[in-house]
Amino acid sequence: MSIPRSILDAYDPERFRADGHKLIDMLAGQLARWQRREGPVVPWRDPARARSHWAESTSSGDFVDDLARIAAASTAVANPRCMAHQVPPPLPAAALAELVSAILNNGMAVFEMGPAAVPIELAVIEWMCGTLGLPRGAGGVLTSGGSLGNLTALLAMRQAHAGFDVWKAGAHGGPPLAVIVSSEAHYSVSRTLAIMGWGEGGAIRAAVDARHRMTARAVEDALAQAQGSDRRVIGIIAAAGSTATGAYDPLGELADLAAARGLWLHVDAAHGGGAALSPTHRGKLAGIERADSIVWDAHKLLMMPALVTAVLFKREHHAYEAFAQQASYLFAETPPAEHWWDLGQRTLECTKRMMAIELWVALRSRGEAWFTDVIDRQHELATELAQKLADAPDFELALEPESNIVCYRHRPPGMTDQGALDRHNRALRERVVTDGRFYIVGTTLPTGYHLRSTLMNPLIEPDDLHDLIAHLRKLCP
Ligand SMILES: *Cc1c(COP(=O)(O)O)cnc(C)c1O
Repeated sequence: MSIPRSILDAYDPERFRADGHKLIDMLAGQLARWQRREGPVVPWRDPARARSHWAESTSSGDFVDDLARIAAASTAVANPRCMAHQVPPPLPAAALAELVSAILNNGMAVFEMGPAAVPIELAVIEWMCGTLGLPRGAGGVLTSGGSLGNLTALLAMRQAHAGFDVWKAGAHGGPPLAVIVSSEAHYSVSRTLAIMGWGEGGAIRAAVDARHRMTARAVEDALAQAQGSDRRVIGIIAAAGSTATGAYDPLGELADLAAARGLWLHVDAAHGGGAALSPTHRGKLAGIERADSIVWDAHKLLMMPALVTAVLFKREHHAYEAFAQQASYLFAETPPAEHWWDLGQRTLECTKRMMAIELWVALRSRGEAWFTDVIDRQHELATELAQKLADAPDFELALEPESNIVCYRHRPPGMTDQGALDRHNRALRERVVTDGRFYIVGTTLPTGYHLRSTLMNPLIEPDDLHDLIAHLRKLCP
């Protein structure tokens, strides 16, 4: 019984070497073109036509050439004219580390399927806890994205604070529960509460102040409002770097309130956690070390390729409460914390990418100072763009940016009607996307629809910001 030639050929190490060299040459060329600002940022195409194009497209006979075609048809996140979502141009060395993860394919649920990746993940988690100033005894796990991170943390919160064993009795085994969330919380929070079976009433919304922050005062008002309902409030969900505006909730006063009321404090720092690496911006996170649980995406300010998310707990044992279940074929029959090396007990994923190695390699090869440089630059670029917009007579800045997210709108002379302004700015953003030379997004704030730019790329120059404003003026409907 001989191995078919097709199989031997596919796994031939010399073929891999040749393909790999060609692939890296192709990607290096692509990186250089992006940095020269060549090509569109968004190669816009009608979705239905794009769909039939790729469905009918065949291989050129060389898969590296096929991949080059995919790259050319993709949104150029690494082009400095991309100033849109909270998605960084990944650190190239981290992308290479991801290739290693793909080749090694250690699934990590149990220690022997990740004898290097599991301890590296625990080292990275320890570093993240230390960076945020969490006390001894803190710990956590890496998971696939902030949305899944929020679900994991809130499952642990519920198991710890519901007052009944939700894992055994089910969501309806006790009184209906709720949490207080900011009116500007990321949608994954309300989605999480719905997944947990709490319905829409599970989220009690607290208003934000003029700086888009949820203050302790607003939480107290929401708690008073909850008094009359049948819901028992068990937690407060704060944001450290909100998605829409990058605003930081005042974590110190929220931690005081949570402690006084016996509530769980969860901080969604998916975006803003990285500020902890900057002596200039760290103060915005003051109080985060008192949170019961925290979510922090390394694929945002820390420049990792998606997805690398930390779910951190002030008391590590809470990490085992999210999925308070035993899978006997995988895990030992002993209390989960005695087998702290089997990470699958703490995550929804069974098999998981070796996501920690990217961050570990970046930290070891570049050092923490590199992250400080990047994060400071992202914030400086946001301040610079905000200044340029504030100085422009035909633009309006929604708020001074606290993070690297800038919200603004174009206001043609004489246009004061809110509906007209919304329509004008929506139309303008659509033109930006279909034109494709720059990329920005939009968001609806209490004051209306706004354009939104997240300055993720540290290679953006002030000229790019100037050119963006000129471009927007030219594309005005
Ligand atoms: C980005 C973001 C999320 C979602 O994270 P994903 O990794 O995209 O799933 C959640 N919360 C906040 C505040 C975010 O900025």
